[in-house]
Amino acid sequence: MLILVINSGSSSLKYQLFNMDEKTVVGKGLVERIGIEGSVLTHKKDGKEFVIETPMPTHNEAVKNVFDALVNEEYGLVESIEEIGAIGHRIVHGGEITDSTLIDEQLKEKVREYAKFAPLHNPAGLAGVEACETLLPGKPNVAVFDTSFHQTMPASSYMYGLPYETYEKHGIRKYGFHGTSHKYVTKRTAEILGKNPEDLNVITVHLGNGSSLAAVKNGKSIDTTMGLTPLEGLIMGTRSGDLDPAVLTFLMQAEDMDAKELDTLLNKESGVLGISGVSSDFRDLEEASDAGNERATLALDMFIKRTRRFLGAYLVELGKVDAISFAGGIGENSDTMRASLMKDLESFGIVLDEKKNDGLRGKDAIISSDDSKVKVLVVPTDEELMIAMDTLNIVEK
Ligand code: ADP
Repeated sequence: MLILVINSGSSSLKYQLFNMDEKTVVGKGLVERIGIEGSVLTHKKDGKEFVIETPMPTHNEAVKNVFDALVNEEYGLVESIEEIGAIGHRIVHGGEITDSTLIDEQLKEKVREYAKFAPLHNPAGLAGVEACETLLPGKPNVAVFDTSFHQTMPASSYMYGLPYETYEKHGIRKYGFHGTSHKYVTKRTAEILGKNPEDLNVITVHLGNGSSLAAVKNGKSIDTTMGLTPLEGLIMGTRSGDLDPAVLTFLMQAEDMDAKELDTLLNKESGVLGISGVSSDFRDLEEASDAGNERATLALDMFIKRTRRFLGAYLVELGKVDAISFAGGIGENSDTMRASLMKDLESFGIVLDEKKNDGLRGKDAIISSDDSKVKVLVVPTDEELMIAMDTLNIVEK
Protein backbone atom coordinates (compact mmCIF):
# COMPACT_ATOMS: atom_id res chain seq x y z
CA MET A 1 0.00 0.00 0.00
CA LEU A 2 1.12 3.57 -0.69
CA ILE A 3 0.88 5.82 2.35
CA LEU A 4 1.32 9.57 2.30
CA VAL A 5 2.68 11.10 5.52
CA ILE A 6 1.94 14.75 6.15
CA ASN A 7 3.50 16.94 8.83
CA SER A 8 1.81 20.36 8.82
CA GLY A 9 3.31 23.31 10.63
CA SER A 10 1.75 26.75 10.85
CA SER A 11 3.41 27.94 7.63
CA SER A 12 5.03 24.76 6.32
CA LEU A 13 4.04 21.26 5.28
CA LYS A 14 6.39 18.29 4.87
CA TYR A 15 5.32 15.14 3.03
CA GLN A 16 6.72 11.72 2.26
CA LEU A 17 5.20 8.98 0.15
CA PHE A 18 5.96 5.46 1.39
CA ASN A 19 5.63 2.15 -0.38
CA MET A 20 4.75 0.04 2.65
CA ASP A 21 5.18 -3.29 0.84
CA GLU A 22 8.87 -2.50 0.59
CA LYS A 23 9.09 0.10 3.40
CA THR A 24 10.74 2.53 0.98
CA VAL A 25 10.34 6.26 0.44
CA VAL A 26 9.01 6.85 -3.08
CA GLY A 27 9.54 10.60 -2.87
CA LYS A 28 9.09 13.56 -0.61
CA GLY A 29 8.96 17.32 -0.38
CA LEU A 30 8.30 20.44 1.58
CA VAL A 31 6.00 23.43 1.22
CA GLU A 32 7.22 26.64 2.83
CA ARG A 33 5.69 30.07 3.41
CA ILE A 34 2.05 28.93 3.42
CA GLY A 35 -0.06 32.08 3.87
CA ILE A 36 2.99 34.29 3.34
CA GLU A 37 4.18 35.91 0.12
CA GLY A 38 6.66 33.72 -1.74
CA SER A 39 5.04 30.29 -1.12
CA VAL A 40 7.21 27.54 -2.54
CA LEU A 41 7.03 23.76 -2.91
CA THR A 42 10.27 21.77 -3.19
CA HIS A 43 9.62 18.25 -4.43
CA LYS A 44 12.23 15.48 -4.49
CA LYS A 45 12.34 12.43 -6.70
CA ASP A 46 15.37 10.18 -7.27
CA GLY A 47 17.66 12.71 -5.59
CA LYS A 48 16.54 15.49 -7.95
CA GLU A 49 14.80 18.64 -6.72
CA PHE A 50 11.88 20.37 -8.41
CA VAL A 51 10.87 23.83 -7.20
CA ILE A 52 7.33 25.08 -7.73
CA GLU A 53 6.66 28.72 -6.85
CA THR A 54 2.99 29.63 -6.69
CA PRO A 55 0.77 31.46 -4.18
CA MET A 56 -0.51 29.15 -1.43
CA PRO A 57 -2.64 31.26 0.92
CA THR A 58 -3.88 28.26 2.97
CA HIS A 59 -3.05 24.60 3.67
CA ASN A 60 -5.74 23.66 1.14
CA GLU A 61 -3.72 25.13 -1.76
CA ALA A 62 -0.54 23.61 -0.29
CA VAL A 63 -2.07 20.11 -0.27
CA LYS A 64 -3.54 20.68 -3.74
CA ASN A 65 -0.06 21.56 -5.06
CA VAL A 66 1.43 18.53 -3.31
CA PHE A 67 -1.16 16.29 -5.02
CA ASP A 68 -0.41 17.97 -8.39
CA ALA A 69 3.31 17.33 -7.84
CA LEU A 70 2.60 13.68 -6.93
CA VAL A 71 0.92 13.06 -10.32
CA ASN A 72 3.06 15.41 -12.45
CA GLU A 73 4.12 13.82 -15.75
CA GLU A 74 7.78 14.77 -15.37
CA TYR A 75 8.50 14.36 -11.67
CA GLY A 76 5.37 12.72 -10.25
CA LEU A 77 5.42 9.59 -8.10
CA VAL A 78 2.08 7.98 -9.05
CA GLU A 79 -0.18 7.96 -12.11
CA SER A 80 -3.33 8.71 -10.17
CA ILE A 81 -3.74 10.19 -6.71
CA GLU A 82 -6.27 7.38 -6.06
CA GLU A 83 -3.31 4.99 -5.79
CA ILE A 84 -2.63 6.42 -2.32
CA GLY A 85 -4.25 4.06 0.18
CA ALA A 86 -4.23 6.27 3.29
CA ILE A 87 -2.78 9.44 4.75
CA GLY A 88 -0.98 9.63 8.09
CA HIS A 89 -0.88 13.01 9.80
CA ARG A 90 1.46 14.14 12.54
CA ILE A 91 -0.57 15.91 15.22
CA VAL A 92 1.42 17.44 18.07
CA HIS A 93 -0.96 17.38 21.05
CA GLY A 94 -3.33 14.48 21.53
CA GLY A 95 -3.87 15.04 25.25
CA GLU A 96 -4.90 11.76 26.88
CA ILE A 97 -5.50 9.94 23.57
CA THR A 98 -3.53 6.72 23.98
CA ASP A 99 -2.85 5.69 20.40
CA SER A 100 -2.82 6.70 16.76
CA THR A 101 -6.43 7.04 15.64
CA LEU A 102 -8.57 7.03 12.50
CA ILE A 103 -9.78 10.61 12.06
CA ASP A 104 -13.48 11.41 12.32
CA GLU A 105 -15.42 14.47 13.48
CA GLN A 106 -15.22 13.42 17.13
CA LEU A 107 -11.45 13.09 17.00
CA LYS A 108 -11.09 16.45 15.27
CA GLU A 109 -13.10 18.02 18.08
CA LYS A 110 -10.63 16.60 20.62
CA VAL A 111 -7.66 17.91 18.63
CA ARG A 112 -9.33 21.34 18.61
CA GLU A 113 -9.78 21.09 22.38
CA TYR A 114 -6.08 20.28 22.95
CA ALA A 115 -5.09 23.25 20.78
CA LYS A 116 -5.24 25.19 24.07
CA PHE A 117 -1.86 23.59 24.88
CA ALA A 118 -0.46 23.69 21.30
CA PRO A 119 -1.99 26.84 19.80
CA LEU A 120 0.29 26.94 16.74
CA HIS A 121 0.65 23.23 16.02
CA ASN A 122 -2.77 21.60 16.45
CA PRO A 123 -4.69 24.00 14.17
CA ALA A 124 -1.99 23.54 11.50
CA GLY A 125 -2.26 19.74 11.80
CA LEU A 126 -6.03 19.94 11.45
CA ALA A 127 -5.75 22.23 8.43
CA GLY A 128 -3.67 19.53 6.71
CA VAL A 129 -6.27 16.88 7.61
CA GLU A 130 -9.18 18.93 6.33
CA ALA A 131 -7.40 19.73 3.07
CA CYS A 132 -6.90 15.98 2.48
CA GLU A 133 -10.53 15.23 3.35
CA THR A 134 -11.66 17.79 0.76
CA LEU A 135 -9.19 16.95 -2.00
CA LEU A 136 -9.03 13.18 -1.59
CA PRO A 137 -12.46 12.24 -0.25
CA GLY A 138 -13.09 8.71 0.94
CA LYS A 139 -9.48 7.89 1.83
CA PRO A 140 -8.71 7.12 5.48
CA ASN A 141 -6.83 9.82 7.39
CA VAL A 142 -4.98 8.73 10.54
CA ALA A 143 -3.73 11.00 13.33
CA VAL A 144 -0.39 10.10 14.93
CA PHE A 145 0.25 12.16 18.06
CA ASP A 146 3.55 13.27 19.59
CA THR A 147 1.98 12.62 22.98
CA SER A 148 0.37 9.20 22.72
CA PHE A 149 3.42 6.95 23.31
CA HIS A 150 3.74 8.54 26.76
CA GLN A 151 0.15 7.91 27.80
CA THR A 152 1.29 4.72 29.55
CA MET A 153 2.95 6.90 32.24
CA PRO A 154 1.53 6.35 35.72
CA ALA A 155 -0.13 9.31 37.44
CA SER A 156 2.84 9.51 39.80
CA SER A 157 4.95 10.49 36.77
CA TYR A 158 2.52 12.79 35.01
CA MET A 159 0.90 14.80 37.81
CA TYR A 160 2.43 18.10 38.91
CA GLY A 161 2.69 19.18 42.54
CA LEU A 162 -0.25 21.54 42.09
CA PRO A 163 -3.78 21.46 43.53
CA TYR A 164 -5.55 18.43 42.00
CA GLU A 165 -8.29 20.73 40.66
CA THR A 166 -5.86 22.22 38.11
CA TYR A 167 -5.76 18.76 36.50
CA GLU A 168 -9.50 18.20 36.77
CA LYS A 169 -10.46 21.66 35.52
CA HIS A 170 -7.81 22.36 32.89
CA GLY A 171 -6.07 19.05 32.22
CA ILE A 172 -2.78 20.43 33.54
CA ARG A 173 -0.37 17.46 33.68
CA LYS A 174 2.69 16.11 31.92
CA TYR A 175 1.81 14.71 28.49
CA GLY A 176 5.29 14.30 26.96
CA PHE A 177 6.31 14.79 23.33
CA HIS A 178 8.59 13.31 20.64
CA GLY A 179 6.55 10.14 21.31
CA THR A 180 6.74 8.97 17.70
CA SER A 181 10.53 9.19 17.88
CA HIS A 182 10.79 7.49 21.31
CA LYS A 183 8.51 4.72 20.05
CA TYR A 184 10.50 4.20 16.85
CA VAL A 185 13.83 4.25 18.71
CA THR A 186 12.51 1.71 21.24
CA LYS A 187 11.36 -0.58 18.43
CA ARG A 188 14.65 -0.29 16.52
CA THR A 189 16.71 -0.78 19.68
CA ALA A 190 14.83 -4.03 20.30
CA GLU A 191 15.41 -5.15 16.69
CA ILE A 192 19.13 -4.35 16.85
CA LEU A 193 19.54 -6.19 20.16
CA GLY A 194 17.43 -9.11 18.92
CA LYS A 195 14.84 -8.75 21.68
CA ASN A 196 11.13 -8.06 21.96
CA PRO A 197 10.32 -4.49 23.04
CA GLU A 198 8.25 -6.05 25.88
CA ASP A 199 11.46 -7.52 27.29
CA LEU A 200 13.45 -4.31 27.09
CA ASN A 201 14.12 -1.43 29.48
CA VAL A 202 15.65 1.47 27.60
CA ILE A 203 16.37 5.14 28.11
CA THR A 204 15.72 6.85 24.79
CA VAL A 205 17.64 10.09 24.39
CA HIS A 206 16.30 12.34 21.61
CA LEU A 207 18.58 15.36 21.26
CA GLY A 208 17.79 17.87 18.52
CA ASN A 209 16.54 21.45 18.41
CA GLY A 210 14.01 20.15 20.89
CA SER A 211 15.30 17.46 23.25
CA SER A 212 13.74 14.90 25.55
CA LEU A 213 14.47 11.64 27.33
CA ALA A 214 12.07 8.81 27.98
CA ALA A 215 12.27 6.01 30.52
CA VAL A 216 10.85 2.98 28.71
CA LYS A 217 10.00 -0.10 30.78
CA ASN A 218 9.07 -3.31 28.97
CA GLY A 219 8.56 -1.29 25.81
CA LYS A 220 6.27 1.28 27.45
CA SER A 221 7.01 4.88 28.41
CA ILE A 222 6.84 5.33 32.18
CA ASP A 223 8.37 8.80 32.34
CA THR A 224 9.62 11.53 30.07
CA THR A 225 11.19 14.95 30.44
CA MET A 226 8.80 17.15 28.44
CA GLY A 227 5.56 18.17 30.11
CA LEU A 228 2.29 19.94 29.47
CA THR A 229 4.14 21.46 26.51
CA PRO A 230 7.55 20.74 24.94
CA LEU A 231 9.18 23.38 27.17
CA GLU A 232 9.86 21.26 30.24
CA GLY A 233 12.94 19.21 31.01
CA LEU A 234 16.25 19.50 29.21
CA ILE A 235 17.94 22.75 28.19
CA MET A 236 17.30 22.96 24.44
CA GLY A 237 18.36 25.05 21.45
CA THR A 238 16.19 28.04 22.39
CA ARG A 239 13.99 26.61 25.20
CA SER A 240 14.80 26.96 28.88
CA GLY A 241 13.68 23.54 30.11
CA ASP A 242 13.12 23.23 33.88
CA LEU A 243 13.25 26.34 36.06
CA ASP A 244 12.11 27.44 39.47
CA PRO A 245 8.55 28.61 38.61
CA ALA A 246 9.13 31.63 40.84
CA VAL A 247 11.42 32.99 38.11
CA LEU A 248 8.29 33.71 36.09
CA THR A 249 6.44 35.62 38.79
CA PHE A 250 9.64 37.53 39.54
CA LEU A 251 10.09 38.54 35.88
CA MET A 252 6.43 39.53 35.60
CA GLN A 253 6.99 42.00 38.41
CA ALA A 254 10.58 43.12 37.81
CA GLU A 255 10.35 43.47 34.01
CA ASP A 256 6.59 44.00 33.74
CA MET A 257 6.42 41.04 31.35
CA ASP A 258 3.09 39.59 30.22
CA ALA A 259 2.23 36.00 29.27
CA LYS A 260 3.12 36.48 25.61
CA GLU A 261 6.51 38.02 26.38
CA LEU A 262 7.33 35.26 28.85
CA ASP A 263 6.31 32.66 26.30
CA THR A 264 8.72 34.17 23.75
CA LEU A 265 11.52 34.46 26.32
CA LEU A 266 11.20 30.84 27.46
CA ASN A 267 10.62 29.25 24.04
CA LYS A 268 12.66 31.35 21.62
CA GLU A 269 15.32 33.29 23.49
CA SER A 270 16.51 30.86 26.16
CA GLY A 271 18.31 27.51 26.08
CA VAL A 272 21.86 27.24 24.74
CA LEU A 273 21.20 30.26 22.48
CA GLY A 274 20.24 32.48 25.40
CA ILE A 275 23.08 31.26 27.62
CA SER A 276 25.84 31.46 24.99
CA GLY A 277 24.63 34.42 22.95
CA VAL A 278 26.21 32.49 20.06
CA SER A 279 23.74 30.09 18.46
CA SER A 280 21.15 27.40 19.08
CA ASP A 281 23.06 25.11 16.71
CA PHE A 282 25.37 22.67 18.50
CA ARG A 283 27.90 22.69 15.66
CA ASP A 284 28.34 26.46 16.11
CA LEU A 285 28.55 26.04 19.88
CA GLU A 286 31.21 23.32 19.68
CA GLU A 287 33.23 25.51 17.29
CA ALA A 288 32.90 28.61 19.49
CA SER A 289 33.79 26.62 22.59
CA ASP A 290 36.90 25.18 20.90
CA ALA A 291 37.88 28.75 19.97
CA GLY A 292 37.72 29.75 23.63
CA ASN A 293 34.24 31.31 23.92
CA GLU A 294 33.47 30.79 27.63
CA ARG A 295 29.71 31.23 27.37
CA ALA A 296 29.52 28.65 24.60
CA THR A 297 31.43 26.27 26.88
CA LEU A 298 29.07 27.11 29.74
CA ALA A 299 26.01 26.41 27.56
CA LEU A 300 27.40 23.02 26.52
CA ASP A 301 28.36 22.16 30.11
CA MET A 302 24.86 23.06 31.31
CA PHE A 303 23.24 21.01 28.55
CA ILE A 304 25.41 18.02 29.49
CA LYS A 305 24.80 18.36 33.23
CA ARG A 306 21.01 18.67 32.84
CA THR A 307 20.83 15.71 30.46
CA ARG A 308 22.96 13.53 32.77
CA ARG A 309 20.75 14.51 35.70
CA PHE A 310 17.75 12.94 33.94
CA LEU A 311 19.81 9.95 32.83
CA GLY A 312 20.59 9.36 36.49
CA ALA A 313 16.96 9.80 37.47
CA TYR A 314 15.79 7.28 34.87
CA LEU A 315 18.51 4.74 35.73
CA VAL A 316 17.09 4.73 39.25
CA GLU A 317 13.46 4.87 38.12
CA LEU A 318 13.92 1.86 35.82
CA GLY A 319 16.20 -0.02 38.21
CA LYS A 320 17.46 -2.31 35.48
CA VAL A 321 18.42 -0.73 32.15
CA ASP A 322 19.29 -2.79 29.07
CA ALA A 323 20.12 0.06 26.73
CA ILE A 324 20.59 3.78 26.29
CA SER A 325 19.77 4.88 22.73
CA PHE A 326 20.76 8.20 21.19
CA ALA A 327 18.70 9.84 18.43
CA GLY A 328 17.98 13.31 16.98
CA GLY A 329 20.36 15.65 15.14
CA ILE A 330 22.76 15.90 18.09
CA GLY A 331 22.39 12.34 19.39
CA GLU A 332 22.91 10.85 15.94
CA ASN A 333 25.78 13.08 14.84
CA SER A 334 27.82 14.41 17.74
CA ASP A 335 30.34 11.85 18.98
CA THR A 336 31.78 14.42 21.42
CA MET A 337 28.36 15.03 22.98
CA ARG A 338 27.71 11.29 23.35
CA ALA A 339 31.15 10.83 24.92
CA SER A 340 30.51 13.68 27.40
CA LEU A 341 27.11 12.27 28.36
CA MET A 342 28.48 8.75 28.90
CA LYS A 343 31.66 9.79 30.73
CA ASP A 344 32.66 8.10 34.01
CA LEU A 345 29.57 5.88 34.28
CA GLU A 346 31.49 2.59 34.62
CA SER A 347 30.14 2.05 38.13
CA PHE A 348 26.63 2.02 36.62
CA GLY A 349 27.66 -0.64 34.10
CA ILE A 350 27.86 1.86 31.24
CA VAL A 351 31.11 1.77 29.24
CA LEU A 352 31.45 3.57 25.93
CA ASP A 353 33.83 2.17 23.32
CA GLU A 354 35.61 5.27 22.05
CA LYS A 355 36.68 3.58 18.83
CA LYS A 356 33.09 2.69 17.98
CA ASN A 357 31.80 6.13 18.96
CA ASP A 358 34.42 8.32 17.31
CA GLY A 359 33.28 9.73 13.99
CA LEU A 360 30.03 7.74 13.97
CA ARG A 361 27.26 9.75 12.27
CA GLY A 362 23.71 9.01 11.33
CA LYS A 363 24.03 5.22 11.37
CA ASP A 364 22.59 2.44 13.55
CA ALA A 365 25.33 1.13 15.80
CA ILE A 366 26.14 -0.26 19.24
CA ILE A 367 28.82 2.04 20.66
CA SER A 368 29.35 0.49 24.10
CA SER A 369 32.22 -1.88 24.82
CA ASP A 370 31.47 -5.59 24.65
CA ASP A 371 31.60 -5.90 28.44
CA SER A 372 29.29 -2.91 29.08
CA LYS A 373 26.26 -4.22 31.01
CA VAL A 374 24.11 -1.45 29.58
CA LYS A 375 24.31 -1.30 25.78
CA VAL A 376 24.70 2.18 24.32
CA LEU A 377 23.31 2.67 20.83
CA VAL A 378 22.97 5.26 18.11
CA VAL A 379 19.58 4.85 16.44
CA PRO A 380 18.75 7.40 13.74
CA THR A 381 15.10 8.20 14.28
CA ASP A 382 12.50 8.06 11.51
CA GLU A 383 9.29 9.65 12.69
CA GLU A 384 7.78 9.64 9.19
CA LEU A 385 8.26 5.88 8.80
CA MET A 386 6.74 5.34 12.27
CA ILE A 387 3.70 7.44 11.24
CA ALA A 388 3.38 5.40 8.04
CA MET A 389 3.62 2.11 10.01
CA ASP A 390 0.96 3.22 12.50
CA THR A 391 -1.28 4.39 9.65
CA LEU A 392 -0.93 1.05 7.87
CA ASN A 393 -1.72 -0.82 11.10
CA ILE A 394 -4.90 1.14 11.60
CA VAL A 395 -6.25 0.95 8.06
CA GLU A 396 -5.52 -2.79 7.91
CA LYS A 397 -7.62 -3.37 11.06
P1 ADP B 1 14.64 19.05 15.11
O1 ADP B 1 14.41 18.94 16.59
O2 ADP B 1 14.31 20.38 14.55
O3 ADP B 1 14.13 17.88 14.30
P2 ADP B 1 17.23 17.88 14.59
O4 ADP B 1 16.91 16.60 15.23
O5 ADP B 1 17.45 17.93 13.12
O6 ADP B 1 16.23 19.02 14.98
O7 ADP B 1 18.56 18.43 15.31
C1 ADP B 1 19.11 19.66 15.02
C2 ADP B 1 20.34 19.85 15.91
O8 ADP B 1 21.29 18.82 15.57
C3 ADP B 1 21.04 21.19 15.71
O9 ADP B 1 21.28 21.79 16.97
C4 ADP B 1 22.35 20.78 15.10
O10 ADP B 1 23.36 21.60 15.56
C5 ADP B 1 22.57 19.39 15.62
N1 ADP B 1 23.54 18.69 14.78
C6 ADP B 1 23.41 18.23 13.53
N2 ADP B 1 24.58 17.70 13.10
C7 ADP B 1 25.47 17.83 14.11
C8 ADP B 1 26.85 17.47 14.31
N3 ADP B 1 27.55 16.90 13.37
N4 ADP B 1 27.41 17.79 15.51
C9 ADP B 1 26.71 18.41 16.47
N5 ADP B 1 25.42 18.74 16.36
C10 ADP B 1 24.81 18.47 15.20
